[in-house]
Amino acid sequence: MGDIIERYIKNPDFKKEQFLELLGCASDPEAAGRLREEAVRVQKLHYGEKIYTRGLIEFTNYCRNDCRYCGIRRGNLHARRYRLTKEEILDCCARGYALGFRTFVLQGGEDRWFTDERMADIVRSIRQNHPDCAITLSLGERSYESYRLLKEAGADRYLLRHETANEEHYKKLHPADMSLAVRKLCLYDLKLLGYQVGAGFMVGSPGQTAECLAEDLVFLKELKPHMVGIGPFIPHHDTVFAGEPAGSVEQTLFFLSVIRILLPKVLLPATTALGTLDPEGREKGILAGANVVMPNLSPLKNRKQYDLYDNKISTGEEAAECREDLARRVERIGYHLVEERGDAER
Ligand code: SAH
Repeated sequence: MGDIIERYIKNPDFKKEQFLELLGCASDPEAAGRLREEAVRVQKLHYGEKIYTRGLIEFTNYCRNDCRYCGIRRGNLHARRYRLTKEEILDCCARGYALGFRTFVLQGGEDRWFTDERMADIVRSIRQNHPDCAITLSLGERSYESYRLLKEAGADRYLLRHETANEEHYKKLHPADMSLAVRKLCLYDLKLLGYQVGAGFMVGSPGQTAECLAEDLVFLKELKPHMVGIGPFIPHHDTVFAGEPAGSVEQTLFFLSVIRILLPKVLLPATTALGTLDPEGREKGILAGANVVMPNLSPLKNRKQYDLYDNKISTGEEAAECREDLARRVERIGYHLVEERGDAER
């Protein structure tokens, strides 16, 4: 057991079979502890005690896609749809700026209403109002030309989880009109255009095997993203996966450590999903190697509507207004929230 962990720490340039062996240790507390210790060492080497914050603005829950796991999938007729106006989005940014955020993440369903023109206009305005901030987009799959226009308008980063690097598993999670090939193409397009790119996957999604997870790690090793978003799968009552079990917090923490060691300078958030399953998920995530938190800046009136999975947290520690509370919690475990853009170091 310990042997494979030490080999990984020494040289994480693993092949699929070795990753599989490594994943065999996920439920061994001693192995996970050793990995965590190394992950924290690597994190502190590059980022010290700094924790970066991103203000998350969930600006639309309209979506043309029908991803089987997601609560805002097109087919969910119970979802109450909303779309923020440009003014509302700019308001969120202004509030966020006053609170100390220097990165804004615009995330939404794949909403055709937000054409390239409308989206570019919003990005340009944020860029103008907040020249010292980073703008991150998370709008799903778009064309190369669209990504190019948005980059030109002032976007810096893009989050697009690959969700799973296993073809068959991808088909189980998504409808027939979506493909892993397109998803990967988008990620490589974004890189080519000079975005700081985030990939990632859910831990414990229905049908996921150790093989799938090993392939996720191989893919991350190839893509070398600047950011990796991972969180446990959590069922949503209005999806076909309603009765499926949630992913495990322990396993998610294990993966945070594995990824910190695999991509030492990666920006790695302790995600909302982790905070949803465990009230101390955020802290545990940081202590496993994460260095980013993404509190919610969306208007209160819409927060419940961006309902990706059941019981998604939207107040308390999760809410951007409670930055001070979050700062205290982070201090308690020996880290500091910083007022910086927090770009990926290369
Ligand atoms: N439309 C954008 C944003 C999607 S929401 C896009 O496609 O990139 C952001 C992430 O939430 C998704 O990438 C997915 O990994 C995660 N997510 C969706 N449903 C979830 C669920 N039921 N449990 C946990 N995470 C989920």
